[in-house]
Amino acid sequence: MARIVMKFGGTSVADLDRIRNVATRVKREVEAGHEVSVVVSAMSGVTNQLVKWCSDLSPLHDAREYDTVVATGEQVTIGLLSIALQTIGVEARSWQGWQIPISTDGAHGKARVEEIDGSRLVAAMGRGQVPVIAGFQGIGPEERVATLGRGGSDLSAVAIAAAVKADRCDIYTDVDGIYTTDPRIVPRARKLQAVAYEEMLELASVGAKVLQTRSVELAMKQKVRVQVLSSFEDRPGSMVVDEDEIVEQPLVTGVAYSRDEAKVTLRRVPDKPGIAATVFGPLADANVNVDMIVQNLASDGTTDMTFTVGKADVPRAREVLEKERASIGYAEVLADPEVTKISIVGIGMRSHAGVAATMFKTLAEKGINIQVISTSEIKTSVLVGAEYTELAVRALHTAYGLDAPA
Ligand code: ADP
Ligand code: ASP
Ligand code: MG
Repeated sequence: MARIVMKFGGTSVADLDRIRNVATRVKREVEAGHEVSVVVSAMSGVTNQLVKWCSDLSPLHDAREYDTVVATGEQVTIGLLSIALQTIGVEARSWQGWQIPISTDGAHGKARVEEIDGSRLVAAMGRGQVPVIAGFQGIGPEERVATLGRGGSDLSAVAIAAAVKADRCDIYTDVDGIYTTDPRIVPRARKLQAVAYEEMLELASVGAKVLQTRSVELAMKQKVRVQVLSSFEDRPGSMVVDEDEIVEQPLVTGVAYSRDEAKVTLRRVPDKPGIAATVFGPLADANVNVDMIVQNLASDGTTDMTFTVGKADVPRAREVLEKERASIGYAEVLADPEVTKISIVGIGMRSHAGVAATMFKTLAEKGINIQVISTSEIKTSVLVGAEYTELAVRALHTAYGLDAPA
């Protein structure tokens, strides 16, 4: 007997037939003698609609009320799946974040999980019940519902798995594993049997949304065994494992892209000590994450400063920069959402020079202009015009020898 956490994403619970399919899968594990907890997302498209309603009412809405709205999607799914399970003879009960409780910090909209008390869930499983848990949500310090950032149900699942000391955390989704790149963009992407935690963390953080970044971070820290697999087909998925369990390590393991960032340029900033602190300090205080940064060479005592922020954070970034206009002293702010960040990731990059050069050459051969570059030990990212996304990802996938045999 094993203790398993099964997580089902939005497309896996998109309608009643799919919820019935999920119930059947859960029943199978229960009948095999396992103790099972289930974590679910909102039905496909629901969270997007809820987010849009908040933004349409007010782009700078109160984050606590945003959480009140967007956390409702998951509540519907836990009730429906519990009914579907009961209908086929599986004892099941729904759980919202506060009932467990899943305690978070107060950063509403992107809260961090601080603590989970797994004892009630363990007791329920011990009584032969299947807890059906709302992903994406917890309870903040003011006893208000708090959400964990988009894609946060993966984090819920891994955190629950750690809290109940599960043997496995199975993430069921609409692809049958982790691929060398998004299989929806590159049909010749290859499925990886195993991916190192560190690589998966980097891939997720640069846009491979098959797993949410923080879920991988937590799995790595707590040594949770994570498997990504299909909720529609019966096939083994991909495991996320320790680096030393991977036999053959290619230079580049995967290519990822993110359309979630916008490019912000501050024109004619005075070129003097302390200017970066004056720009990025207030943005950080307003909870706006800045990713890539470039500052051009100064001429005439001023310079252009370009950086990227999440698309959803653009109104807030503009507001902050407007407020700080006098102390920064720039001429104008430009925001361009028509950009994509393309990244290559691989542990092999640590020990081999020239990997990034191949990336730049490949993009140049396709006539794709690079707007911003950033690197880390096992990753290189470039910002390009959004219209080049598919072309760039495919070209890089081929250039690094990742294509599946025809
Ligand atoms: P869920 O709703 O189940 O959480 P997501 O849409 O969040 O599903 O994540 C699954 C999607 O991630 C896939 O449909 C696929 O398009 C995308 N994806 C991006 N990069 C990868 C990758 N490297 N491997 C597999 N899927 C990927
Ligand atoms: N429903 C939430 C979202 O769409 C959480 C998740 O699906 O993981 O972001
Ligand atoms: Mg997801």
